[in-house]
Amino acid sequence: MLSMQELKELEQKVKDVICPVCTERRPDGTCELTEQECPISVHLPRLVQIVSSVHSNRMEDYVQKVRDDVCSICRTTLSPRGQCNWRAEGHCALDAYLLPIVEVIDDFLVGKASIPSPK
Ligand code: SF4
Ligand code: SF4
Repeated sequence: MLSMQELKELEQKVKDVICPVCTERRPDGTCELTEQECPISVHLPRLVQIVSSVHSNRMEDYVQKVRDDVCSICRTTLSPRGQCNWRAEGHCALDAYLLPIVEVIDDFLVGKASIPSPK
């Protein structure tokens, strides 16, 4: 379980990697999303739980877990038929960049685990 401060630190690390390549980023460096928060920010605590629990070499396992644990509660973007229009149109950064997101979170958690606890 990460503290709020650690989550903020991790969010910045993820954004440092994803925002520069994200299709929602404007040429001036700001984010296109104005009426919705970035899905990576909204769902970061659940993404951390997923990376902590899945431990797989298969990306499909992470994708399925995200569908089950994140998309299922991402009510603002689910259509009445349970499909995600954002995902279908390639606008969900969480879905589009899941592999590098998982890598950044995993590196962060490994780094935290290797820090010896105070005696
Ligand atoms: S949608 Fe998220 S990842 Fe993409 S540019 Fe905006 S803040 Fe960055
Ligand atoms: S794919 Fe859709 S439902 Fe899933 S996190 Fe992204 S916006 Fe939410």
